[in-house]
Amino acid sequence: MKSFVILSSLALFASAQAATLGNMLKRSGVLIYDCAIPGTAALTFDDGPNDYQKIIGDTLAQYNAKGTFFVNGNTYHCIYDPKYAESVRYVFDQGHQIASHTWSHPDLTKLSDAEIHDEMCKIEDAILAITGAKVAYMRPPFAAYNDNVISVAKCRGQDVVIANFDAQDWNGLTPDQTNVLYDNFVATNPSTVLALQHETYNGTATEVLPYAIELLQSHGYKLVTVAECMGNEPYQWVQAPVSDLSSYKCT
Ligand SMILES: [Zn+2]
Repeated sequence: MKSFVILSSLALFASAQAATLGNMLKRSGVLIYDCAIPGTAALTFDDGPNDYQKIIGDTLAQYNAKGTFFVNGNTYHCIYDPKYAESVRYVFDQGHQIASHTWSHPDLTKLSDAEIHDEMCKIEDAILAITGAKVAYMRPPFAAYNDNVISVAKCRGQDVVIANFDAQDWNGLTPDQTNVLYDNFVATNPSTVLALQHETYNGTATEVLPYAIELLQSHGYKLVTVAECMGNEPYQWVQAPVSDLSSYKCT
């Protein structure tokens, strides 16, 4: 009788484990410059959470479009600050993808493996707490990567996203200049668009974004998340978010 109970418990444990593993959709460190699904466009926004994040989320929603936010933990703002945690949750709930841009935006190629793990672990924990989602995609700051960065991302179940179009808002371009870059890129009839920009600029949020959406949609592109443009799921798994973040701090 006793052995029957133990065997039953083991069987239950094994099936519970199988269910958990079955729900995990780990990515494998693939380096991504282009979307995989023809006709898709993935607009991505780095360096948040910041004050324009909700405007970007709302503008995308207004056009029935989705975007991807590569967020930091503590660069411009602490992600656990209630204002910014709420902002991340807001755009997540709109169906936009949340992905990792590391905790503090370092050049990962200058760090040890342990330091790269730490930079990735802390932002993953924050996104998991705030949204309940375990990220499956990351973008290295400055698009700087080496074999160590790729192998740590693979170990952590994530693909590494760069871009095939750089809006250069980080480089001092005005919205009008960025719009011309978009015009020129779309004129080359790319099969897919994977656009890098930053949520930290008012001009990107309020001037470039509506222009880019209308331009891309008028050329037949479907605006989707990075995961959807790759034909994959956005997260390794999704669970209930932490209800009370008051004990979570950046320092
Ligand atoms: Zn960045």
